[in-house]
Amino acid sequence: MSAKKVVVIGGGASGMIAAARAGEMGAKVVLLEKNKVLGRKISISGKGRCNVTNTADIKEFIENIPVNGQFLYSALSRFSSHNLMQLLLEQGVPVKIERGGRVFPVSDKAEDIVEALTKYIKNNGVEIRLEETALEVMIHNGEVRGIKTDKGFIDSSRIIITTGGKSYPGTGSTGDGFRWAEEIGHKVVPAKPALVPLNIRETWVKELQGLTLKNVEASIMDGDKVIKSEFGEMLFTHFGVSGPIILTLSRAVVDKARVPGRLKLSINLKPALDEETLDKRLQRDFQKYQRKQLRNSLDELMPKNLIAYVIDLSGIDPEKFVHQVTKEERRNLLKTITGLTMTIEGPRSLTEAIVTAGGVSLKEIDPRTMGSKLIRGLYFAGEVLDIDGYTGGYNLQAAFSTGFVAGENAALINK
Ligand SMILES: Cc1cc2nc3c(=O)[nH]c(=O)nc-3n(C[C@H](O)[C@H](O)[C@H](O)COP(=O)(O)OP(=O)(O)OC[C@H]3O[C@@H](n4cnc5c(N)ncnc54)[C@H](O)[C@@H]3O)c2cc1C
Repeated sequence: MSAKKVVVIGGGASGMIAAARAGEMGAKVVLLEKNKVLGRKISISGKGRCNVTNTADIKEFIENIPVNGQFLYSALSRFSSHNLMQLLLEQGVPVKIERGGRVFPVSDKAEDIVEALTKYIKNNGVEIRLEETALEVMIHNGEVRGIKTDKGFIDSSRIIITTGGKSYPGTGSTGDGFRWAEEIGHKVVPAKPALVPLNIRETWVKELQGLTLKNVEASIMDGDKVIKSEFGEMLFTHFGVSGPIILTLSRAVVDKARVPGRLKLSINLKPALDEETLDKRLQRDFQKYQRKQLRNSLDELMPKNLIAYVIDLSGIDPEKFVHQVTKEERRNLLKTITGLTMTIEGPRSLTEAIVTAGGVSLKEIDPRTMGSKLIRGLYFAGEVLDIDGYTGGYNLQAAFSTGFVAGENAALINK
């Protein structure tokens, strides 16, 4: 009997769905989770709303997984975002689609996603063992034999490792799966931060903490060269910058920022206007507010908190009246508005990254089953794999698709 048991290590997004699917396929399943609760990271995802997936078609989906996206083709075909949305609905959690195909629970409560998955698990007879930590995966003659945990030994010939990455270790993902994979003989691509906020050198940036900029274009610059640009929303913090477009741009910084301060971040506050149109707009506003001081004349153009800094960076006396501003000063102002520049010290640490880049090398994993090509009976799914996507629901869907496929196939192999 014990040989037919599937043990899933890690009750996060990928582990929950893997366990439920293996149970649905008729296997006897044990789900190990070291926390007191399942799905802790899901609960904090999407600022507590959980951007659970994205409606992008497979091609677009893969484009949003910048490294190794192609590996997911088979898993996404087997368990797509539509399959996930249907499954959630069946468990009593309807979803809604927002800008850019981002999918959220209608309730805007990430907890509801955890509840839906827990229901799916329980409906399929999975034994959930909370507060049990897996310590070692036992292998003999190239086959899985069982797991040592802090509570004893579990005999099993099929194990799915879904322990996540190394980011936000407080949620339980402390990189255990990376360590086991290496010990077993799998190649592990070194973990590094993906989707991570950026430290900025200038004090004025930190003074703006809490300010959100919408519809701006942010560019990573190496000298005069634009490395990567993104349009959308960003946020100032006590250490620098964060928010969706910064997280997406951070990959370029992680890859390139060997020398702190070498890369710059340039923000175009008015990307929809070309220089000539913006200049005309400035002239119009200057005409309208000619009797006002400059610092009181830019409210229609940018957030109030930003005005003093933009004027300062343009080198203009903020007490000046608008009609005293010279053509050259107006040109400097325009340059600052379209290129608010700050110095990138580097990315924040891996522990603060939304997602971990790197992980178990995909060369040794079968994309159709998530099975190890080295060890019979061993499967990997979720962030423990060397896959990471942009923001927009891609990371959770990758975890769900790979988890579903791993659960299904671990239940299927004969032994
Ligand atoms: C703040 C934040 C917000 C996010 N928002 C989004 C979002 O809106 N949309 C999106 O697509 N992605 C989002 N992500 C990313 C997404 O949450 C992860 O990519 C996804 O949860 C990975 O799932 P996983 O199952 O691989 O790992 P995890 O969800 O990290 O689960 C791993 C589980 O394994 C358990 N575990 C680890 N080691 C052991 C052990 N030795 N024994 C027993 N159990 C163990 C852990 O306790 C944990 O519960 C967000 C991430 C963060 C940090």
